[in-house]
Amino acid sequence: MDKKKVEKCVFCGRTSNEVEMLLQGGGNSICVDCAIRVSEYVHSIFGDEIFADPASASAVHEPGKTPSCESLSVTPKQITAFLDQYVIGQEDAKKSLSVAVYNHYKRINEAFARKAAGASAKGRGKSEAEKVLDAEKSALESLELEKSNILLVGPTGTGKTLLARTIARMLNVPFAIVDATVLTEAGYVGEDVESILSRLLQAADYDVARAERGIVFIDEIDKIARKSDNPSITRDVSGEGVQQAMLKLLEGSIVNVPPAGGRKHPEQKMIPVNTTNILFICGGAFEGIEKRIAQRLNTRVVGYGAREKKDHIDMDNLLKYIAPQDLRAYGLIPEIVGRLPIVTYLNPLDRDALRRILTEPKNALVRQYVHLFELDGVKLTIEPAVLDMIVDTALKYKLGARGLRSICEAIMMDPMYDLPGSGRKTFRITAEYARERIERFAGTLQ
Ligand code: ADP
Repeated sequence: MDKKKVEKCVFCGRTSNEVEMLLQGGGNSICVDCAIRVSEYVHSIFGDEIFADPASASAVHEPGKTPSCESLSVTPKQITAFLDQYVIGQEDAKKSLSVAVYNHYKRINEAFARKAAGASAKGRGKSEAEKVLDAEKSALESLELEKSNILLVGPTGTGKTLLARTIARMLNVPFAIVDATVLTEAGYVGEDVESILSRLLQAADYDVARAERGIVFIDEIDKIARKSDNPSITRDVSGEGVQQAMLKLLEGSIVNVPPAGGRKHPEQKMIPVNTTNILFICGGAFEGIEKRIAQRLNTRVVGYGAREKKDHIDMDNLLKYIAPQDLRAYGLIPEIVGRLPIVTYLNPLDRDALRRILTEPKNALVRQYVHLFELDGVKLTIEPAVLDMIVDTALKYKLGARGLRSICEAIMMDPMYDLPGSGRKTFRITAEYARERIERFAGTLQ
């Protein structure tokens, strides 16, 4: 007698009567509970990528749309064009950064693509668990890729943080900023290097897979340079030890991270975070490094004859010649220098750059004030001479781009206080009006 085949889940063996739903395909059946369990298992290993809509991976970047790091169609030039909307000047840094970021995410995406391909190709005739293991193995092989962390060298307030933040915004990946000066070796007063990842986790709303593709900006990395003249005979708490601790993050490893950051509490459950695909962008002013660059270039920063000997060298901007050996001479350990293969520089901001910063970026200060007044129904106009005065003041008192905001605030404080509710529809900031307020502001600086 031909007995009718009873449909059973290939995993748990339960029949359609025993489960809520039995899904069928390829001659086999799987119950809805097991399907969910398998998908959770695969997801825990591969993250969202394996389920990603293939259409999104080739999504074309449209102007005004935020491209995601999945979208390979974002070219380095498009990254630079995006940066141009927010960051003035710094062309060389933008170019290096755009290429580095493009390559970084290209490598990640390629690795994930191989991972997914491996999962399906090797899968035929194998059990689910074997398929997953195969895919994981091939993914690990393909993830043996060089990581290109980046070092931005340039004076403070020239746009290093802004560049890193803007890149993260463009790619829509989690972003964390940490100050290297607060980091110490484990066991010392201060923050452990793992706290860097705690912040990234926070920025990713504790979505570990997202955090693992994020960007971390480590500011003031020059401040943890080894000081050869360190008089301390005890361990170098703020220098080499921290660099050593930081290495494991930069080179890519699994780091156990305390979720709340800061000091470890025994009751906290550590979260393992793989730093392989996290992009680290480091920044530092490296004050005085020009001397070392000059030495290497076999010339002198000052002195007779230097200029005629080295005519082709731009003595006013030696930073553009920065090379790994200068960083080592400055006190970064060779392993750290090796993990920051892309080194680029930022220019000091001159009058023209400061003037442009006031009005050109998408979120330029002047645009912000105009918008703020607009919300109160007031049309704000500012005489061009006022903008020149703001820039002159920033230059005179060496306040840099950060100072532009304080000067603007000093000028705008009274109108921001008086205009709301006054019924006025327009307001013009004249040179005379601004001068009085700038002088008052300058008085507070002396
Ligand atoms: P740092 O180089 O010290 O990291 P930041 O990127 O934090 O400097 O710059 C401080 C602020 O100055 C920024 O938030 C931004 O408002 C302004 N700024 C600095 N450089 C630029 C620039 N190149 N283009 C536009 N704004 C800039």
